[in-house]
Amino acid sequence: MNFNLTEEQIMIRDAARDFAKNELLPGVIERDEKQQFPAEQIKKMGELGFLGMMVDPKYGGSGLDTVSYVLAMEEISKIDASASVVMSVNNSLVCWGLETYGTEEQKQKYLVPLATGEIIGAFCLSEPEAGSDATSQKTTAIDKGDHYLLNGTKNWITNGGTASVYLVIAQTDVEKGHKGINALIVEKGMEGFAVGTKENKLGIRGSDTHSLMFTDVKIPKENRIGEDGFGFKFAMKTLAGGRIGIASQALGIASGAYELALKYSKERKAFGKEISKHQAIAFKLADMSTQIEAARMLCIKAAWEKDQKINYDLSGAMAKLYAADMAMAVTVEAVQIHGGYGFVKEYHVERLMRDAKITQIYEGTSEIQKIVISRSILQD
Ligand SMILES: Cc1cc2nc3c(=O)[nH]c(=O)nc-3n(C[C@H](O)[C@H](O)[C@H](O)COP(=O)(O)OP(=O)(O)OC[C@H]3O[C@@H](n4cnc5c(N)ncnc54)[C@H](O)[C@@H]3O)c2cc1C
Repeated sequence: MNFNLTEEQIMIRDAARDFAKNELLPGVIERDEKQQFPAEQIKKMGELGFLGMMVDPKYGGSGLDTVSYVLAMEEISKIDASASVVMSVNNSLVCWGLETYGTEEQKQKYLVPLATGEIIGAFCLSEPEAGSDATSQKTTAIDKGDHYLLNGTKNWITNGGTASVYLVIAQTDVEKGHKGINALIVEKGMEGFAVGTKENKLGIRGSDTHSLMFTDVKIPKENRIGEDGFGFKFAMKTLAGGRIGIASQALGIASGAYELALKYSKERKAFGKEISKHQAIAFKLADMSTQIEAARMLCIKAAWEKDQKINYDLSGAMAKLYAADMAMAVTVEAVQIHGGYGFVKEYHVERLMRDAKITQIYEGTSEIQKIVISRSILQD
């Protein structure tokens, strides 16, 4: 067993760290307040290869391993989780899904511009009445011979307004249940496709979350991913990898808050000494750093398993469950260590605390991760 990172992994981590400090930190508070999408910063992330990190270079990607992706996700999320969710969706859901299951034509047409960051993508599974229970899809894709006719509404779609390409899950054959679901590539601008208003959110406020409406949108048959009826499996397989990305986002939010709390605890004095010298604060820091390290190990193990082509459904779910719950607890403590200063925007920790919450909800809530984990450990 070797816990050392390779030189390349260290280089990627440091590049992401520098980018986050130099390009994402300036303006992060204002973007959060104004709910402003980090458009310029995302463009630069694309140019640096952060939006198609694991994609084969022959499709315009960086050809890196999943461990490097986790390291970069942690660094970007320490500073700006609104930027890191764009990175996570584009890498783990959209690019991975297309590269793994798309046809050569789909890869040339869609994956290449997505991996280079020329355009960004969205993954559209959730609906007003289908969240955790993703099998009850109401969006329909009716087979009309050479095309599908798409009708319905998707909810809470990250990159909803800014994406150019959308992977949309829809029911073709109700009788077949989840085996009658398809995944279709939808382009912005297709007739009958409308984007709803932007959601006004608690956290990751710079990210762009919308509902999407489809009315008789004609989707050519060549835009279906995989065989007829593969859509639900496609969504589940894709989300299994997506969880590694969101676990790393949670890890980064927590480690960002912890680093701020550690620094502050050495500067702030109370009762004649730095607050870090009060055992109550020192023990909080000890707990926080231990929990962050445990989450980091779970994230890296899941990523390593994915790279080794070992089944990572269980390790990914464990990483997401633990990292998300940990991020919520650690960010609350980071605010506490800052006292009143933690409650105002300039010190960043209140934003990180708000951002942490979403990691317990999207790409499978913490309760759903427990279902995945318990099913896996009970099946033998
Ligand atoms: C900011 C944001 C961005 C998002 N981005 C995307 C995106 O890009 N693409 C996309 O498709 N979706 C996206 N989502 C949707 C997200 O994945 C769903 O909100 C999530 O899966 C939960 O679904 P729900 O909101 O319908 O809650 P519900 O499924 O209604 O759950 C409500 C509560 O019940 C619990 N619950 C449900 N079923 C069970 C059960 N069987 N056992 C125990 N507890 C249960 C849940 O854990 C939760 O606590 C996003 C959501 C948000 C808020």
